[in-house]
Amino acid sequence: MKKRILTGDRPTGPLHIGHYFGALKNRVALQDEYDTFVIIADVQALTDNFQNPEKVRKNVYGVAMDNLAAGIDPNKSTIFIQSLIPEIAELTVFYSNLVTITRLQRNPTVKEEIEQKKELFGDNVTFGFLGYPVSQAADITAFQADLVPVGEDQLPQIEQAREIVRKFNQIYGPTLKEPEAKVSQFPRIRGLDRAKMGKSLNNAIYLVDPPEIIKKKVTSAITDTKKIYLKDKGHPEVCVIYDYHKMFGTDELDIIEKECRSGARGCVQCKKELVESIAKILAPIQEKRQHYQERPKLVEEILFEGSQKARSVAKKTLKLVKEKMHLNYF
Ligand code: ATP
Ligand code: MG
Repeated sequence: MKKRILTGDRPTGPLHIGHYFGALKNRVALQDEYDTFVIIADVQALTDNFQNPEKVRKNVYGVAMDNLAAGIDPNKSTIFIQSLIPEIAELTVFYSNLVTITRLQRNPTVKEEIEQKKELFGDNVTFGFLGYPVSQAADITAFQADLVPVGEDQLPQIEQAREIVRKFNQIYGPTLKEPEAKVSQFPRIRGLDRAKMGKSLNNAIYLVDPPEIIKKKVTSAITDTKKIYLKDKGHPEVCVIYDYHKMFGTDELDIIEKECRSGARGCVQCKKELVESIAKILAPIQEKRQHYQERPKLVEEILFEGSQKARSVAKKTLKLVKEKMHLNYF
């Protein structure tokens, strides 16, 4: 039997190049070797978008199409909608007894995100948001996943899921699989403002961005603040444009680095070349997305069938969990 993967995205906006190189590409490459489940985490998206349910709803199909466009094959992988699997919510309730509030408050990613969401939460974060790593542990274990391909920001979440699994197995007997995280070669891609590229942060190049928008975004990105004139010596290690050249796999990386350091090339040239590399990679993805965009019924079918299949797997796990917890009444 193939090993399992559980991975996915929050439907909070279109997917961006950070997702592509940080998670999606890996996901696509692994779908032959692993039985892959891709979750569209609408329940988790509501933890910080509860006042904006139409935004979450709107992005479910978009995120599904971004996955399909990037190469997720519905004949190999199962794409599903989290809220259609109520078993995940039940598991979340059981696991919430296995995690302390201080442990949740110590999670560095959640801490950072609460800081970023000051406008929404002020000093009063909700129970749902603080607890989303618990629901993520339920997402993963509902499928008894072996591997979870993620970006670096999700590593603390996977560690928390592993702790929950160990605690569960220790109390109720061996039941759940302890998942492992897998980060890509580019685990934390910076946005145009140098913070983590995030779809809720307004600093991303989206997979659906047309060439003229990409050009505009790249042109206005801050490079090395110490390099003002072409002849100034640059520092590629601080420059997002150089990072992106690495990601998009230019053959001329060494030349770019040398010329930047010596002051033989300017940022304008570097940005122009990057725009061309991005267009080359995104063109076939955008073409495939167009195909799905014109066939909404097909996307709906993929999600419907995927969710049915996912539910049947999660049901089995929940049955087992309930047996172990002596909740098997009739
Ligand atoms: P949001 O701001 O709504 O949380 P997000 O951009 O962080 O959106 P998610 O849906 O939370 O996207 O994450 C989906 C997957 O993409 C996760 O595995 C996450 O680790 C990965 N990921 C997100 N942003 C980056 C990034 N900048 N670099 C690498 N991986 C990333
Ligand atoms: Mg995120």
